[in-house]
Order: sequence, then structure tokens, then C-alpha cells
Amino acid sequence: MRVDFGVGLCGACRWRRTIESGKGSTFHLCERSKIDASLPKYPRLPVWMCHGFEPTTGVGGHGDPGSGETPGAGEGRAAPGEAAEADEA
Ligand code: SF4
Repeated sequence: MRVDFGVGLCGACRWRRTIESGKGSTFHLCERSKIDASLPKYPRLPVWMCHGFEPTTGVGGHGDPGSGETPGAGEGRAAPGEAAEADEA
């Protein structure tokens, strides 16, 4: 997982949607805020702790909720490099 230190966790989260204004500014919308009222629609960045964070899958784009992927499908997956350790007995 690659982390953008200017954005924090949101940069690697499947719920993040980037919005660009006509003036060239970039905003990060949290799509999960639509179903979880405890999350801000526009998080104050960088975000370093978030109970709603779910990593992007890295397959088929950013894995945004509107893509038809099942939210939560990425939970419990090991990051690259961690799987080998978990499989060793
Ligand atoms: S769920 Fe949390 S980490 Fe993910 S986009 Fe929303 S605020 Fe950012």
C-alpha cells in the first residue's frame, strides 16, 4: 500500500473520491460518509486514523463504491509482503 503523506489514509482508501474544481483545486470526498454519519464528507487531511478505512484493491482502478465492487471485500487482506510471512508455518 502506498501512502500519500499529504493525504494520509484517504489516499489509499477505496471510499475516497477525488473531485477537481473548475479552478484547479482538488478535494477528497469520503463516500463512506453517506452511510456512516460519524465520518466527515470532506475529511481534514491528512487522515492518519480512521475506522472506515478500507484499502483499495489495486485491481480495476481505485475500487470506488460506485464500481460495483462489494465494500468490505478488501478487509482482512494482507499487504504485499505480509502474505508470505502469514503463510509460513
Ligand atoms: S473512510 Fe476514512 S480513510 Fe476512507 S476516505 Fe473516508 S475518511 Fe478517508
